[in-house]
Amino acid sequence: MAKMKYCGNCKQWVTPTKGVNWVIAIILLIFFVIPGIIYIIWAMSKGGKCPMCNSTNWSIPPKEENE
Ligand SMILES: [Zn+2]
Repeated sequence: MAKMKYCGNCKQWVTPTKGVNWVIAIILLIFFVIPGIIYIIWAMSKGGKCPMCNSTNWSIPPKEENE
C-alpha cells in the first residue's frame, strides 16, 4: 500500500515523491564518491514532496469527504 499524504495545496491525497534511491546512491558512492554524496543530498531535498505542485504543504485532510 502506497504511503499517501494529503496535500494542502492540491486538496487531495497524493503519493509523495521518492527520496534517495539507495541502489543508485551506493553504486555512485562506489564508483564516484563526490557525485554519490551530491546525489544523496539532492535526493533527500527532493524527496517527500507533492508530485503535483512540488511543495511540502502537508495538511490534515477534511473529514469524510471521500464519500
Ligand atoms: Zn500538491
